[in-house]
Amino acid sequence: MKCRICKKEAIVKLKHYNLPLCEEHFYEFFEKRVKKAIGKFGMFSNDDRILVAVSGGKDSMVVWYVLRKLGYEADGLFIRLGNGENIDKTQEMIKDFAKDIGGNLIVEDATRYLYGLSTFEATRVLRRSACSFCGMVKRYLMNKVAVEMGYDVLATGHNLDDEASQLLGNILHWQKGYVLRSWPVLEKTHEKFVKKVKPLVLNYEDDIKLYAEMRKIPFLKETCPFSIGATSKVYKKMLSVLESDQRGAMLSFYMGYIREKDDFFKKDEESVNLNSCEICGYPTTSKVCYFCRSREKLRERLGRKRGTIEG
Ligand code: AMP
Ligand code: ZN
Ligand code: ZN
Repeated sequence: MKCRICKKEAIVKLKHYNLPLCEEHFYEFFEKRVKKAIGKFGMFSNDDRILVAVSGGKDSMVVWYVLRKLGYEADGLFIRLGNGENIDKTQEMIKDFAKDIGGNLIVEDATRYLYGLSTFEATRVLRRSACSFCGMVKRYLMNKVAVEMGYDVLATGHNLDDEASQLLGNILHWQKGYVLRSWPVLEKTHEKFVKKVKPLVLNYEDDIKLYAEMRKIPFLKETCPFSIGATSKVYKKMLSVLESDQRGAMLSFYMGYIREKDDFFKKDEESVNLNSCEICGYPTTSKVCYFCRSREKLRERLGRKRGTIEG
């Protein structure tokens, strides 16, 4: 098997493209796709200060690595969703990685907003579904830290498989608002919203894993135990079945959306009315944002007094 580009011995064969490549040309191919996403969607420029939300999983570690390699000023943000040995270890791993790649790491502790509870414990008290509550807390805190620390953009590790499967789910349920917001860039539409981007949107998850392994980028192998059985996984499975029958189907499904979105939805692109939350000032479509409403409910259920962040 020869590298398609230089004809030297290939060491990988990218199954989604049926493409054999040597090590050097695999890295080049992979990084070019990240550059393409940044340029095509106008994600950021060289002067922008970028905050990368880093969970310790392969996607966010890789996106941080590649952005710094491409010469961007990119720092990391790790959100502690609870306490304990595993979380401490993850934080240590990310801290060491930050040192290796030369970026700053910010650590935000979600439990101080949840009266000392982990997001999982809080969902028990609130009787909510773990994934959606945890996701809301992460999104809220990523945005808040980015705004408060003056970053221009927030980057996450969402990859092609994530975005295509989410799009499929939204289309299956004809959730037009969500379909419109499946775009890989969300612009700043409120003074307390940071611009959000997904630089790995053109990269398959399999290739990201391969890239992390070959570059010896450390990452957590296990996924969140509460996400097992999540509906998003069913859509991912459906797309991978399709992909194994029709190579490139996932990419072509997602790129079709990118190409057609404006034509499909131009006439009735509705704008959402954003208010500032009466409690925290961050944007919301209600009077009080979902994050603050959750905290209020949590406080009541725990029988605590209203007070400062920790109180
Ligand atoms: P997930 O929702 O777990 O699939 O994660 C999607 C993206 O959110 C990841 O690629 C990260 O960029 C970011 N993320 C998830 N969990 C955390 C965390 N605990 N701290 C910082 N960023 C996170
Ligand atoms: Zn080559
Ligand atoms: Zn609020």
